[in-house]
Formats: sequence, structure tokens, C-alpha cells
Amino acid sequence: MIASQNAIDGKDYSKSVASFVAFRNLWIKPTAKLVSKPTKVLHISAECYPAAKTGGLADVVGALPKYQQNQAVVASVVIPKYDLPWINKQQWSEVFSGGVWMGFYDQPFKVYSIDPAILGFPLFCIELLGKFDRPGIYSDPYGNYYGDEAERFVSFQKSVLRWLQSDESIRPDIMHCHDHHTGLIPFMVKHSPEFQNLAQVPTVFTIHNGRYHGSFGWHSRYLLPHFDDYLGGLLEWKGVINPLAAAIKCCWRLTTVSRAYLEELKTDSNGLEWLLQQESFKSNGILNGIDTVAWDPATDPSLKVNLKKSVPYFKRENKASLVDTFHLEKKLPLIAFIGRFAIEKGADVLPDLVYRTFSQNYQTNMLILGSGEPPIQHALDNMARQFAGRFSLYLGYNEDLAHQIYAGADFLVMPSRVEPCGLNQMYALRYGTIPIVRRTGGLRDSVVDIGDPGGSGLMFNHVLTSDILHAFSRALELYENKKKFNQVIQKNMQLDFSWDKSAEEYQKIYDEIKIKQVI
Ligand code: ADP
Repeated sequence: MIASQNAIDGKDYSKSVASFVAFRNLWIKPTAKLVSKPTKVLHISAECYPAAKTGGLADVVGALPKYQQNQAVVASVVIPKYDLPWINKQQWSEVFSGGVWMGFYDQPFKVYSIDPAILGFPLFCIELLGKFDRPGIYSDPYGNYYGDEAERFVSFQKSVLRWLQSDESIRPDIMHCHDHHTGLIPFMVKHSPEFQNLAQVPTVFTIHNGRYHGSFGWHSRYLLPHFDDYLGGLLEWKGVINPLAAAIKCCWRLTTVSRAYLEELKTDSNGLEWLLQQESFKSNGILNGIDTVAWDPATDPSLKVNLKKSVPYFKRENKASLVDTFHLEKKLPLIAFIGRFAIEKGADVLPDLVYRTFSQNYQTNMLILGSGEPPIQHALDNMARQFAGRFSLYLGYNEDLAHQIYAGADFLVMPSRVEPCGLNQMYALRYGTIPIVRRTGGLRDSVVDIGDPGGSGLMFNHVLTSDILHAFSRALELYENKKKFNQVIQKNMQLDFSWDKSAEEYQKIYDEIKIKQVI
């Protein structure tokens, strides 16, 4: 009889068990050690607030890294060096200079950094003269697209990789790429011999906006680093080089900025539906947070009155100042819109919505801040004259005014056709403005209809004026019921949309990748 706990079928397996444990520890121990070491993450993006912003991508890349400075993660950001006011004001130090081959010419570049204390994380900018030293991110100040997007963003991505491969000490544990402007990186590091020493660095790719793919024809293949012909299929979608599709195929992990948006992309992503269904095994939807330090009603320097006394006082005073500035009716509620005049934002319905709101005599004011499609601008501009005193318009981009509207409006309307996450509704909730939103993407994940338990806003289903007007009627009814209206505002302002929860979810993904890397 064998006196061992490891006796099975009368045989002593203790030696085998011991050797299995030793063998397993070989794997588990280094893994455990790796996980406890902070993960160095480099966010690679076209935008980062406050350096360069056209929308939500900048807000995310400018906020998430602040919440990723802890014992588990240290994050930094790299973007192109644009000719933009905030960038031009900083004291930059050169940290690297090099060049990348662009098929028939050598493109020199320099990497600069600023004091990490300025933003709360290290920010690097890549100077590519002739490519990014322009006064706009994707288009000139008049809204004309530059037209050499492929050349610009390929040179940026290659420069980032050339810089990272130059020195092991600066190499991140994870490259976190954002949107199609950085979508070729997962392919390049995996399949281009030129960047082979980065092949083991895992890539996470986040889709902020799946409508834009950054596609370009095969005739521009010369821009890319060398790769074997048989790998071309990884870059291609529908006959062209598609950086978004390439990223989805080649990244280690894929995320979108809300769970609902990930599901929607599988049925509506401008042609990539099937691909997203195929790659769903490595995909997660993580709702963006907001920067609760920059967006704090108690300290926000853009506001006329900060939240020091009561919420009603805060709302009343900020509304009074807004209504005064825009010559609106003092006693009526104020419904606002902030954003790009783009089809995906449903901005094309705004002119009709404004017209019918006032021609049908809804008892409200409206205020719109934004810019974009010229026909929408013109139509709204005409209506601002027609309905002066009840409707006002600010054409352009104005960060301070956006903050003042979130604080001073009663309602914020978002008739979005597509809303990957949407930040406006979260800023509105935090500043005591009730969102009126279409049931789509991140709006579904962050707003609850007032008719449901825990209701925080008003929801409608279709981008149709009649549907939105119905939501307006419900909003105005709520406004009349002062007790309920104030209760909803007070409760909304307590909701937690900080980055902490989302940062934790990203960290979980980084940890899972690192374990996979060791195994
Ligand atoms: P997008 O699809 O445009 O990225 P998001 O909701 O993710 O939409 O982010 C929009 C951000 O841009 C918010 O911070 C919003 O306040 C800001 N914004 C949009 N248009 C304007 C404008 N004209 N002036 C000021 N801020 C704006």
C-alpha cells in the first residue's frame, strides 16, 4: 500500500506531481511578476486634448492617461506636432531625431516632449515638416481637407515605430492605437521586417469612430514599409488598403468606446460588419469616462458662476448669463445643441427642427453651438434671424462657450444617427442639463429614459423631426413639474462617469495580453 496523497490506481504519482508543479511554476512565476510590474502603455493618436482637438477622440486621449498613472499602469501619449496654438506655446525638448523612407524620398522627423507635470502624463509630439506643420488637424481653417491624409499618417506611424525601435528603454509594453490614423501599426510591427524588433510588443486598437476608414489605393503601396506580397490581404478590404480593417485584423485586442456601439458595428460599420463579427472574440466595449477634474462645475474656470451654493442657484445664474448674452426669452426653458454639423450627428434635421419648434409655438428657447456642413450652417443662420429672441446660433468652435452651455441650458438635444460613445450627454448630466437623446450607441449605455426606473433623460428612436418634437413635449412637461425637474437634475449631477471604472477595464485587457504574451 502506498502511503501518499498522490496515490491513484495504487501508483505513486508524487514525483510526477512535483515535476508538474515545478514546470507550471516556470510559467506562472514570471507571469505573476510581470503582472505586478507597472505596464508601460503608449497611446498613439492623431488628437490629444488640449494640444489638438476636433472632438471626442482628443478628450479621451487627453484624459485616460491621467487615470492610468498608478502602480499597475504608466501611460504616455504621442501625437503629430501640428502648427496649433497650444502646441506652439509649449517649451519642447528634442528627444530623438531620425528619418523614414517614403518610397522615393527620405522624410526626416524629430520627437519632442514637454514637462509631464503640465498634463499629468508625458506627451510626445512628432515633428514631420511638410506634413503636419499646418494650422489644422485634418483640414485647413476653412474646412478644406488637405488631401494627402495617407502620406501624412503613414509617415507619422512609421516615425513612431522608428523612434520606439531605436532604444529598448523607451519601448512600451503595450502600444494602444486609436482610430484609423494609427491603424497600420498593428500590421507593420507584426509583418514588416523593418520593424521586427517590435513584433513582440502587443497592440490594443480602439475604434472611436468606425465610419472613417482612412482607405487608399494600392497605387500608394510604396508609402508602406516592405512586407511579403502574400500578406497584402491583411491590409485590404474591398480592393483598397483599409487601415481600419487592417487594425481590426492584426491588433491583439480590439475595443470600442461603448458596449452598444460594438454591437451596432457588427451590423452597420460602413462595410466592415462581417469582419467585426469574425473578430468579436477579441473585442470589448468600454464606455468612455469624462475628465472630472477638467469638467468640475465647482471649479470650472469657463463658467460665470461655479457650483458653490445650491444647484438651483448654480443653474439659475448660469442660465441668466447665457440667455442675456444670446438675447433669449428669460422665462422659457432653454434647449441646446453642441457639436459638429455632420450627418452622423443628425445635424441635418436641425433646421427643420428649429423651424417646426417655433412655427408650432413650442414654449422654449433654442441655442446651437457648432459648425460643419455649409448648407446646415446657412439654413440655421437664416433661422436665427427669423426666430430672433427665441433661437440663437454660434457658428464655430468655442470651448468656453460649450462649458457655459452645459451649465446654463435646461436640456441638451442629441439627434445622433451614430454615437460611438458621446461625451456631450455626460458633460450635460454632470452640469445639471437634462439630455434629450436618440437611442443609439453610447447614448443607450449612459442615459436612461425618464419613464424608466433611474431615469436621467428623454429618449427617442428615430432621427425624425416628429420624434424629436415628441421628446421636446415630454421635456417641457417635465420642466413644468418643478419638483420632479429639480430632483432629476440633482440626481443626474451625482452620477459617476469618471474614468476610474473604464481605466480599470483597460487595465484588465492589458494584463490579459501580458499573460498571453508569456504563455
Ligand atoms: P465627436 O463625434 O465629435 O468626437 P463627442 O461627443 O465624442 O463627439 O465629443 C464632442 C466634444 O467636442 C465635446 O467635448 C464637445 O463639447 C466638443 N465640441 C463639439 N463641437 C464643439 C464646438 N463647436 N465648440 C466647442 N466644443 C465643441
